[in-house]
Amino acid sequence: MVEITFLGVGSATPAISGDHVALLVRAGTLKALVDAGPTVMAQLGRQGVTADDIDVLLVTHAHGDHVLGWPMLLFRQRPLVVVAAPETQRVLRELAWLVYPELQEPMADRLTFVDLGPGGEWRVGPLRVRSAATCHSAASQAYRFDCEEVGRALTYSGDTGPCDEVAGLAQGCDLLIHEATYLHVQEPMYGHSTAGQAAQIAAAAGCGALALVHRDREQPEALDLYEAEVRAYYNGLWWLPYAGQTVILSAAGLNILEGR
Ligand SMILES: [Zn+2]
Repeated sequence: MVEITFLGVGSATPAISGDHVALLVRAGTLKALVDAGPTVMAQLGRQGVTADDIDVLLVTHAHGDHVLGWPMLLFRQRPLVVVAAPETQRVLRELAWLVYPELQEPMADRLTFVDLGPGGEWRVGPLRVRSAATCHSAASQAYRFDCEEVGRALTYSGDTGPCDEVAGLAQGCDLLIHEATYLHVQEPMYGHSTAGQAAQIAAAAGCGALALVHRDREQPEALDLYEAEVRAYYNGLWWLPYAGQTVILSAAGLNILEGR
């Protein structure tokens, strides 16, 4: 079973303060954090999770709304594995040792950096992790997590415009968590997607369900407009997750829980 908690679902300038997109992925005893924006410690705290509870941090790219909270994970006693593409790793290290140079030495034997670039594969706990380059304004990658024990898979796009590589990575996934920064095409889009474009990727990849994140919309959101855009391309289950919501992938299928 894999549990995915949406720690935040917003863009770089989210409609709700502190709602930057981040995921907590739990499988067996493993707790993996995907992206760590400026408010990630508060987002984790609301789930009763501390820095020391996180085993693995996976980072899609080095934009501030995805990495500025990561140095706070260094206040820990347990080991941490940091997974990202090499160019993103460089930024993560520079950022950490710029703001906490005194932690570099004590953390030396607790931090492991895993270079996992586009096309890479890595295994941790019950998860097989794969990555693919996305179409963004900075070097960025999507992640796919396969839990072979239950025969389920999810893909998280990170930031991207409509991208064949993301569709390829997400082939046959039970759940695609795709960014939908916009509701309709705006210029310039800086390598982001609309809800309709995310729906096209979900359809092309044959995904069982679609969750739209990195949303840049005012609150409350116009569900009928999303419905019209998504349904033009995609017939599967789709929804707008909110911060604190959890979805479970198990042998029985996908179960969306009420959040807190
Ligand atoms: Zn970005």
